[in-house]
Amino acid sequence: MSIAQKLYEAGYITYMRTDSVNVSAEAVKKTQAFIAKNYGNDYLPKYARTYKTKSKVAQEAHEAIRPSDITKTANKLALDSSSDKVYTLIRNRMLASQMEDAVIESTQVKVRVSEYFFKLNGQKILFPGFLSVYPESTSEQLLPKLTESQELFLNELFAEQHFTSPPARYSEASLIKSLEQYGIGRPSTYAPTISTILARKYVEKEGRNLIPTDTGMVVTRLLEKHFPNIVDISFTANLEEDLDHIAEGKRVWTEMMHDFYQPFAKQLEVKDKEISRDDFTVLGKSNYKCPDCKRPMIIKLGRYGRFVSCSNFPECKGMRSEDGKTEADQAKEAYTNEFLSLYKPAPQTEDGKDYLLKRGRYGKFWAHPGYPKIKDAKPLEFTSAVFKKVYGTKPKSKDGKRMVLRNGKFGEFWAHPNYPEVKEVIRLNKKEIEAKKTGSGDNLERFCVIIAVLFYYTHLHFLFAR
Ligand SMILES: [Zn+2]
Repeated sequence: MSIAQKLYEAGYITYMRTDSVNVSAEAVKKTQAFIAKNYGNDYLPKYARTYKTKSKVAQEAHEAIRPSDITKTANKLALDSSSDKVYTLIRNRMLASQMEDAVIESTQVKVRVSEYFFKLNGQKILFPGFLSVYPESTSEQLLPKLTESQELFLNELFAEQHFTSPPARYSEASLIKSLEQYGIGRPSTYAPTISTILARKYVEKEGRNLIPTDTGMVVTRLLEKHFPNIVDISFTANLEEDLDHIAEGKRVWTEMMHDFYQPFAKQLEVKDKEISRDDFTVLGKSNYKCPDCKRPMIIKLGRYGRFVSCSNFPECKGMRSEDGKTEADQAKEAYTNEFLSLYKPAPQTEDGKDYLLKRGRYGKFWAHPGYPKIKDAKPLEFTSAVFKKVYGTKPKSKDGKRMVLRNGKFGEFWAHPNYPEVKEVIRLNKKEIEAKKTGSGDNLERFCVIIAVLFYYTHLHFLFAR
């Protein structure tokens, strides 16, 4: 669309935000003259062709998209390669629309093999007509010369397997085609519609395909369930028609707004109470059983993405990750050797149960096994070796006491043990600390371990083996 916009602004084509198929008499005349001169009179139909729109909502006020001057090729205009393609497409379409029909001879051959028939279709272009500028729309399928009842011999036999495939994803182009077909939106709103659903993350682009997101699914389901009249295709199409009527002065806009808004406002009031949390969180059924009560579970959309929840929520708080792992599984998984080389092991409750490792909005933390019922969480603590590497030795306060590490709104800092009564603090360089925490400082150590292990296997191993 932006390329077409540039061509329009340069005066090379007519207004591009239209689906009209009307062409001015003058443009038709010029095109006919060009065809007669460059292709010959055979390529001109007896009468100028006129076209009627299939879409009932086309904006007839505009002309169809056509070149301003049919005699100018893309070459003459010295366009860049993408503008060249768009311009040539528009120009060829205009030329083809005023050209004579192509004459095609089609042949069908039926070959009988005992009681079965095999069909062969052939196609030969006798006169190209408009196909001379639109060759891609058809191709020849030439058959060998055959006579009736001729005996044929089998050359080769293939056994092939074919699969039917589901309908393709919408691309921007095919979605616009559907919008047009159902009368939703107007040429000027197609592009903004697509950029809106992308910006709101209802769909994501994968190559040329538009893939609905979880958010898109949930929003669609909610609207279909609670506002079926609003998302009804004919409602939207009718509304567009009403707007056209207003534009044409056939309807009073206040009347139309009144008819639409009064029932809608009432509906909103009702739905405000009726819509439950489930309406915008539930994605569908899952195959997992609840780890706590063994009931079936459902897939939900949470703040951090998909998860699986007990169908008996909120009575049962059983949960799994999207791939079926329970919190205990995840905790165990996170509890790796690498983790243990960095952090002190899990703290324990008074009755000797391990705290569980969880991941929250601000990173990992230790949660009481009864969490979230028991609201007790502890921060992860570095092992003393790692602590020393990241923070250095604990500094002493002016009165000779060991300062302690505290966490505040602006990050970590050293504080007097009696902070905040004693307001003595030492700020830490956040960036430096983060860099040390993420392990850039560990790399040298890891490298040394690897070298030592390699050395053992290449040299000492043989010594000890003897
Ligand atoms: Zn449960």
